[in-house]
Amino acid sequence: MAQSSSSDYIFKIILTGDSGVGKSSLLSRFTRNEFSLESRSTIGVEFSTKEVQVDGKTIKVEIWDTAGQERFMTITKHYYRTALGTLLVFDLLKASTFQNLNQWYNEVRANAGIECSIILVGNKVDQRHKREVLYENAKRYADERNIPYIETSALDTTNVEQAFRSLIADIYRNWI
Ligand code: GDP
Ligand code: MG
Repeated sequence: MAQSSSSDYIFKIILTGDSGVGKSSLLSRFTRNEFSLESRSTIGVEFSTKEVQVDGKTIKVEIWDTAGQERFMTITKHYYRTALGTLLVFDLLKASTFQNLNQWYNEVRANAGIECSIILVGNKVDQRHKREVLYENAKRYADERNIPYIETSALDTTNVEQAFRSLIADIYRNWI
């Protein structure tokens, strides 16, 4: 992790998961408390920052976002390199995004450091009636890989703060 003058530490975290699962929405909800029902496709790679307090220390978190359709192809190793953590996101309303998790998980494990913290995030929990992925199945997937699982809604804010904070706290425990 890098040091900076205004904050005590800088953490780079990345968003991974299929296109449309809500990565950019989670990012804008967490960093700006904004949400839009319109999908704005992410062009290339973007990042936003937010300062978070952990243990009385100020951590500047750089959250990197990319368009999911670039998966396995043009996402450069650069995106993963130096990432200390990732939110591995799928869409609770779309089983295929859950089935694709393994490929994302392997990408992270292959390209980010072995120490990279991961939290599994099932997004869009506000639409319970349209759910295609059961809590038990997602939880089992996470347990098998020894990573936490959380269900979020960027739309109604459920657990968004908690998801990012839990990842940041995990990184803090690993590195500081
Ligand atoms: P990305 O491609 O992974 O960055 O996904 P986006 O953030 O662009 O979101 C894709 C679509 O899902 C957009 O229409 C969002 O408004 C919608 N969306 C994102 N998060 C949620 C959520 O928590 N609940 C619901 N109902 N829709 C969401
Ligand atoms: Mg996006």
